[in-house]
Amino acid sequence: MPMAAYPNLLAPLDLGFTTLPNRVLMGSMHTGLEEAPDGFRKLAAFYAARARGGVGLIVTGGVAPNLVGRLEPRASQLSYGWQAGKHRGVTDAVHAAGGRIAMQILHAGRYAYHPLSVAPSATRSPITPFKPRALTGWGVRRTIAAYVRCAELARRAGYDGVEIMGSEGYLINQFIAPQTNLRDDEWGGTFENRIRLPVEIVRRTREAVGRDFIIIYRLSMLDLVEGGSTWDEVVALAKAVEAAGATLINTGVGWHEARIPTIATMVPRAAFAWVTRRMKGEVGIPLITTNRINDPQVAETLLARGDADMVSMARPFLADADFVNKAAAGRADEINTCIACNQACLDHTFSNKQATCLVNPRAGFETDLKIAPAAVPKRVAVVGAGPAGLAAATTLAERGHRVVLFDGAERIGGQFNMARRIPGKEEFTETLRYFGRRIELLPTLELKLNTRVDAAALQAGAFDEVVLATGVLPRDPRIPGQENPKVLSYIDVLLHRKPVGARVVIVGAGGIGFDVAEYLVTGADRGEPSATLHLDEWKREWGVGDPAKTPGGVERPQPAAPARQVTLLQRKAGKHGAGLGKTSGWVHRATLKMKNVEMLGGVNYERVTDDGLFVTFGPERKDGTLVEADTIVLCSGQEPLRELAGPLAAAGIKVHLIGGADEASELDAKRAIDQGTRLAAAI
Ligand code: FAD
Ligand code: NAP
Ligand code: SF4
Repeated sequence: MPMAAYPNLLAPLDLGFTTLPNRVLMGSMHTGLEEAPDGFRKLAAFYAARARGGVGLIVTGGVAPNLVGRLEPRASQLSYGWQAGKHRGVTDAVHAAGGRIAMQILHAGRYAYHPLSVAPSATRSPITPFKPRALTGWGVRRTIAAYVRCAELARRAGYDGVEIMGSEGYLINQFIAPQTNLRDDEWGGTFENRIRLPVEIVRRTREAVGRDFIIIYRLSMLDLVEGGSTWDEVVALAKAVEAAGATLINTGVGWHEARIPTIATMVPRAAFAWVTRRMKGEVGIPLITTNRINDPQVAETLLARGDADMVSMARPFLADADFVNKAAAGRADEINTCIACNQACLDHTFSNKQATCLVNPRAGFETDLKIAPAAVPKRVAVVGAGPAGLAAATTLAERGHRVVLFDGAERIGGQFNMARRIPGKEEFTETLRYFGRRIELLPTLELKLNTRVDAAALQAGAFDEVVLATGVLPRDPRIPGQENPKVLSYIDVLLHRKPVGARVVIVGAGGIGFDVAEYLVTGADRGEPSATLHLDEWKREWGVGDPAKTPGGVERPQPAAPARQVTLLQRKAGKHGAGLGKTSGWVHRATLKMKNVEMLGGVNYERVTDDGLFVTFGPERKDGTLVEADTIVLCSGQEPLRELAGPLAAAGIKVHLIGGADEASELDAKRAIDQGTRLAAAI
């Protein structure tokens, strides 16, 4: 029986007044639909799809309890009866789909991105430009009343519960930590005073909503900032919150201003479950663990081991709405796994764009991007099985078209076969497993590997349409002397694994330049293990400590010594890696800094010599310097590869270009998969 595969994950959870069907919580995520015109109708479709997919309990994105608590000026708020109406569509849709949904109440405090922000004390956060106003004692009481009113309205709007956001450095955290709470009234000073706000919120909310309403308290179990809570304090707060009437305690890890990554792809899977495990036995109510759990077997192992009673996954439900149903049906190999890249979810949220998913462009677009059976099935060739071609071919075949997918390589994946070799990008392998399985399951899709096709072969194939997803070629930087054998391309290094010397110069500091630097400086080419696959090592590298020993769990990072000396060059002046992901770029920069990578900008590449790369600086080409190197790796961008387009079009064949073949500038897998899916939905 498939159910037996994940007996703990799929076991019901009795909360006394209600029973959740399984141990899977869909964690809170802001999608951007909350503020969009017609957004609540789209949100209803988004959440209903996840409820149909089998999630035990959904938690919405954060909703502010009052105006000043909004994260940004347009953020959604629930304080008045008339605001509750639009939530009805969401709760009705989820209930109709057989699901349950709780609304998260989030007061941003000093993290608010507007000038009305308030906090326990008037200290600005390092990640926002606005200095908050210190709440008066009366203001604190009004804030509690706002939380209570918000929860009552959530109940009236049909929610099954609320989650009180007490972690990630928002208002409640700001009251708890002495570094952000400098008050000397009943809300500051002693620990008991500093936790009075969350305890009162939970107590008064419980009084107002009655016994049969879920209250999840998201407890900051590991602050990861200097001066954060000690473990004794975290436990004391958990007990107080339980006594005040919480139904469940969810785990929060790291304030937003923490300089330790907590959810990026280089964070090991389930890296913080040990924190929840420590809390087990301290309270009687069920505990939820979280962070970088993206796989049913990982979740099952945590529950079987007793680390927690429930598992929260958020982004995995952007990647695949049917995660739970697939796991329950013994089809876990069909799950579209979240690779934790943040590129289409958090990076979008932080750029005020609607969140979606790199591996699933339908996330949040359920009502706009429909994959319907083709009216007239066609015979379509897709050339190139990189992310763009894979998305196109599988979507076309799903719609009933007869598809032949060609790739000259011996395996599917295109450039993802290089990306997944970078330490910390191991998750990218999951996307290839997912597409590989989809190809196996689609009867009208024929995969032809080791088949580099030309225009004549495609013409002979009598296809109705041809999709060119042939990707890119590395850009030739034309540096005098680059024919020297010490010069390699990123493909030589990552795919062909050519030997690399002890001193390396990298030409180009884009995404690939950074990745190659990480690959070489960690010794991945020599088989050095990736810290992402070794939790203790990873914790040492980033300084994740024991909150029982250091408050907040922050220790001095102890990175392993660099495997070689790397210099990363770019022509433009300014910060290296400025174009990297909004929420993960800092992690890449910090990693290279830890490994003493030297970064030089404003460089002119004058010539390669037997000793290295001779460069000058600035428009005046001054300060000529030889950067000594045993190996020079070219990572100087990419150009489209679309040599087949002209001849095919000339032969009268309908040709479509997607991914890198269409446009190499600012290409990433997000655009490649999105473009492939959208084209395939329209043919
Ligand atoms: P490609 O992946 O280049 O695939 C093209 C395919 O076409 C290849 O498999 C090739 O063999 C095949 N082909 C070409 N010509 C023919 C022919 N005539 N006949 C048959 N087959 C042919 N992107 C991100 O979004 N996030 C990341 O973190 C990220 N990291 C990366 C790290 C590295 C080291 C690299 C190299 C890339 C990374 N990328 C990342 C970029 C991402 O991989 C590309 O944007 C994406 O692969 C482009 O997809 P594509 O399908 O257009 O082309
Ligand atoms: P890129 O990000 O465009 O970077 C190209 C680099 O080459 C830049 O540093 C550029 O900087 C330099 N360059 C451009 N033309 C040059 C020339 N003629 N001579 C010498 N240097 C030149 O491209 P990429 O690194 O090749 O990455 C390809 C795509 O993969 C990117 O668009 C990226 O989105 C994606 N990717 C993403 C990630 C990620 O983590 N999200 C990781 C890897 C790759 P100067 O012009 O200043 O020298
Ligand atoms: Fe996961 Fe990346 Fe999709 Fe976000 S965009 S849900 S991190 S795969």
